[in-house]
Amino acid sequence: MDNINMMGVKISKKNLQETVSEISSYIIEGTSHHIITLNAEILYRAQQDEKLMDTINSADLVTPDGAGVVWASRILNRPVQERVTGIDLVQAVTERAQQEGWRMCLYGGKPGTAREAANNLQKKFPKLKIVGTYHGYQSSKELEEMYGHIADTNPDILLVALGAPLQEYWIRDNKETLGIPVMVGVGGSLDVLAG
Ligand code: UDP
Repeated sequence: MDNINMMGVKISKKNLQETVSEISSYIIEGTSHHIITLNAEILYRAQQDEKLMDTINSADLVTPDGAGVVWASRILNRPVQERVTGIDLVQAVTERAQQEGWRMCLYGGKPGTAREAANNLQKKFPKLKIVGTYHGYQSSKELEEMYGHIADTNPDILLVALGAPLQEYWIRDNKETLGIPVMVGVGGSLDVLAG
């Protein structure tokens, strides 16, 4: 069993490195996948919010972000191995992306944040291919341009940092149209990377 069931949600038992391997298999497969790093607050909110619960359960992989989820898994006697947080996943995926030549896009945060986060990642991983950065407050016209740019650059991974649960709804709604193999909701991670 790769998942545990906690309060109606299937949460992955994979550790960070196994999660990166799973992401690699999604890129080889080529069809679009939605990954959520789930904290206890969103899990709790989903109990009263059917749309949120359905969205979480439509994702392909839900990682245990947050000490509360890991702790609860132990109490329930169905322990996950470790926390897999948004920021840890971004760092690990980025390192692997450099090795494999995966193309990445960053979306979200205030104007300038995604670009600054990309610059800092690029300093750490000089051969990393970041093919697009977009802030998280686009007008509908800018969004159209963003979709066009994404189609032209054909990324393997899109990190979406609009905050939970907005990013989860956005990924669910755009997953099929954009057809990016890996779309991950990463919350405030771009803010952290931008420093
Ligand atoms: N954000 C955005 N567009 C929006 C709303 C929020 O890009 O319409 C960004 C915001 O600038 C911040 C991030 O989403 O960078 C939310 O970070 P937060 O730490 O609140 O998210 P969490 O990690 O709690 O999901």
